[in-house]
Amino acid sequence: MHWGANNSKMRTKLIFTFTGLVFAITLAAIAYGTPKANRVNIRYVTPKNPEHQLVYMQMKQRGALEELQTFLSPLLLPRTLHISLAECDGEADAFYDFASITICYELIAELWENMPEETTPAGIEPIDTVIGPLFEISLHEVAHALFDLLRLPVFGREEDAADQVAAYILLRLGDTEARRLITGAAHAYRTEELRTGECRSLEDYAGEHSTPGQRAFNALCIAYGANRRLFADFVSEGYLPKVRAEFCREEYEQVQDAFDTLIQPHIDPELEKQIQGRAWLCESQGGGASVKHENCLLAPPE
Ligand SMILES: [Zn+2]
Repeated sequence: MHWGANNSKMRTKLIFTFTGLVFAITLAAIAYGTPKANRVNIRYVTPKNPEHQLVYMQMKQRGALEELQTFLSPLLLPRTLHISLAECDGEADAFYDFASITICYELIAELWENMPEETTPAGIEPIDTVIGPLFEISLHEVAHALFDLLRLPVFGREEDAADQVAAYILLRLGDTEARRLITGAAHAYRTEELRTGECRSLEDYAGEHSTPGQRAFNALCIAYGANRRLFADFVSEGYLPKVRAEFCREEYEQVQDAFDTLIQPHIDPELEKQIQGRAWLCESQGGGASVKHENCLLAPPE
């Protein structure tokens, strides 16, 4: 192509073509979205089943979703992530699909029902057996959302990777809160394993998730790998076998490296500092973990 001064028609056409291209790219950028913080939208879906009214009211009054929204505000997302509390036709579940996370009232009700009356022999407060798994499950779904919305490559099973991201985020909180949430989540998986493990058929191992027992050990292992002093009792008390504990530091560092490479660049550093600088959990009943906060996140009914 010749760029001669007398070829003004061609030049005008090219200018229009170029302008059109810029316009098209701009439209595409708007459609995919410039990554932004504060991009989580929340909704409490009014339940039809009267059994879920109490869960609905408690969550709403305590601003549980608002707290989760604030917690996730540093994420730089290319589009809005919707998080809803809703009924799920009797399924005690949580799931992610098309930029939308649903946490079922049935799941919260089940966690409340299974809450022990007293501190467990391992020293886990009853309230932490609810907020630990609920926090972990919510972040597991957020991990699925990040893999999808940020187009992150995942080696290994996505369900295991989502568990690792969730545990890693919990471990970035203060020592007291990290310990309460990780032990609460591991307790819930362990309890589920003890309840269902014996009846498991061969086909159950074909599932996309690891077994609840494996998920419990995975959570304990990543925590022990993150801080062997804070979680030393996991090994000394026999909750995490030594044969696994030996490799937990490497397992933790592998997750840390993946998180730093793939997810950290999508987090606003200033907002993240604010999130990590405040308390998230209400004071536990036993007083062992003592963080007071006016909004007690995800607490069971009084
Ligand atoms: Zn999942």
